Amino acid sequence: MAEHLSARDMLAKLVSFPTISRDSNLELIDWVRGYLAGHGIESQIVRSATEPKANLFAQIGPAVPGGVVLSGHTDVVPVDGQDWSTGPFDVVERNGRLHGRGTCDMKGFCALGLALVPEMLKAPLKRPIQLALSYDEEVGHRGVPSLIEAMVARLPKAAAVFVGEPTGMQVVSQHKGGCALTTRVRGFEVHSSLVHTGVSAVTAAARLVVWHAERMEENRRAAEALGDDAPGILFDPPYTTLHNGLIQGGTATNITAKDCWFSSDIRSLPNEDGREWFARYRAECDRVAAEMQAIRPQTGVDIEVRLLAPGCRKEPDGEAERLARLLTGDTEEHAVSYGTEAGHFQNEGGYSTCVIGPGSIEQAHQPDEFLEVSQLEAGEAFVRRLIAHLAS
Ligand SMILES: [Zn+2]
Repeated sequence: MAEHLSARDMLAKLVSFPTISRDSNLELIDWVRGYLAGHGIESQIVRSATEPKANLFAQIGPAVPGGVVLSGHTDVVPVDGQDWSTGPFDVVERNGRLHGRGTCDMKGFCALGLALVPEMLKAPLKRPIQLALSYDEEVGHRGVPSLIEAMVARLPKAAAVFVGEPTGMQVVSQHKGGCALTTRVRGFEVHSSLVHTGVSAVTAAARLVVWHAERMEENRRAAEALGDDAPGILFDPPYTTLHNGLIQGGTATNITAKDCWFSSDIRSLPNEDGREWFARYRAECDRVAAEMQAIRPQTGVDIEVRLLAPGCRKEPDGEAERLARLLTGDTEEHAVSYGTEAGHFQNEGGYSTCVIGPGSIEQAHQPDEFLEVSQLEAGEAFVRRLIAHLAS
C-alpha cells in the first residue's frame, strides 16, 4: 500500500523513532523499507556486523550513472540531562518552529528525500535519485563507510552527493576533518616523597596536553603569517585546532598518579591529512612513553581512536557544488568547522560531494532542538528543483 506523507508528517514519523546512537535504528529502517516498498522501490540494507543497526540505500529512477545521492544519518544524540519543554520524540510546532530531537540534525533532510518519492516517480526521472541513510554518524561515523562501499559496488555511479546536514540551505563546499581520541596514561604509584622512583601519569599526561596547545599555537602563527593566502582562510578559525576537553587522573596529593586519561579533539583543515596529525601525536606519545619506561618498564601510553573522519575538500569544478549552486542560486563561498559524512563520500567513494541541508547547526544537539518551518519548505523547494532538473 503506497503511503503519501507531507514533508512535515514524514519528519514527525522519523522523529517518533528514538534512534539515539547507542540504541538500535532497525525500527526506523524497517519502516522506511516498508514505505519505499509501498511505492514499488526496493531498498538495500547494509547491516552492522556487531550491533542491531543498519544503513539503507535505494534508487528511484532509471539505473543509469549521473544521478544524485541524498545522504542523511538516522541516528540522533541523547536527550539525557537536557531540559526539554516538549516531548523530544514528538514534533511540536511553536512560533514557526518544529521542535523535536533530530528535526534539524538531521531527520529534516531525510524526511524531504522520502516524502518526495511519489513526485520523483511521477516526474519521471531520467537520471536517478539515490537515497542513502546511515547509522552511528554521531558516534564516530561508524556506519557510513560500509554504506558507501555497498553503494559503489551495487549502484550506477552518481554524479553528485548532497549531504543534508544543516547549512541553512547554503552550499557548503568544504569542512574540517575530525579526530577524536582518548589517551590513557599508565604511571607507577609510589609515595610522593620518593617521587623519583615512580612515574606520575598526571605529569606525563600534562606534557601530552601541552603538545596539543603548542601545535595549535604553531598553526595559528603560520596562518597569521600567510594572512589572506592561508589555505584555511574561509574557516573560522583558519587553521587546524587541537583541544583537550576532558581530563582525569590521580588519587591523592602524596601519591604519584598511576592513571590519567584525557580526550583530544583535532579538527584539521581539509587540505591536511587527519591521519598525519594522528601519526604525529602517536610519535609524541611513544617518545613520552619511552622516557617513562626508562624508570618503570610497566608504564605506557595507549590511544583509543574514537573518530578519524576526513575533511571535505573544495573540488575544482566540483559537480555537486555546481549543481547545488544552480538549484539554490547561492554564489557565496561557505566553509564550516563541524564534520559530516561528506568527507567519506568524497575520499572513500570518489563522489563529487557538498553539504547542503535545512536548519542551523546552532540548534543541533540542543534541548528543544528545532527546524524552522521556512527551512523545511526551502529544503522541499530545493528537492523539487532537483527532481525537475533530473527529469529534464
Ligand atoms: Zn548530523
